[in-house]
Amino acid sequence: MTPTITCISCGAVVPRNPRLKKQKYCSAKACQKAMRRSWKKKAYAKNKSYRKKHLDRQAIWREQRPAHAYQQQYRESHPEYVNRNRELQRTRNKKRQRAQAPMIVNGNSLSLQPSSDVTYAVIQVKKLKDCKWELVHGYNAGIIRAREDLPHY
Ligand SMILES: [Zn+2]
Repeated sequence: MTPTITCISCGAVVPRNPRLKKQKYCSAKACQKAMRRSWKKKAYAKNKSYRKKHLDRQAIWREQRPAHAYQQQYRESHPEYVNRNRELQRTRNKKRQRAQAPMIVNGNSLSLQPSSDVTYAVIQVKKLKDCKWELVHGYNAGIIRAREDLPHY
């Protein structure tokens, strides 16, 4: 019976190559590529000089092919992409403008409604932590009651 290995890439059971000590991959092209990829990943993580060489090569490659030039060329040849982006950005800007409506509750700007024992007001809050008032109901909107322990204005 010939000794076999189970390829860790494709899972195939194949006869072991007697020339290899720790064979983990079969000879299929995809599995050989996977083995190479795995080796490169390990070398990149562990070997400083390998990583430096790799990064240097990458920097040279990027210098020869500036990203902004590619982007500019792409935008010139794809006007529908440019228009879509423009529209989406307009939508985002409008959304942002709406979100910039008063977020922080300022006690000074509230017109409080005093009653016999408590003072209350209905306000809208974005975040609970921005509110120095006691929140009674809800998260986005609710009835707040001035806390007794805070100074009055
Ligand atoms: Zn395989």
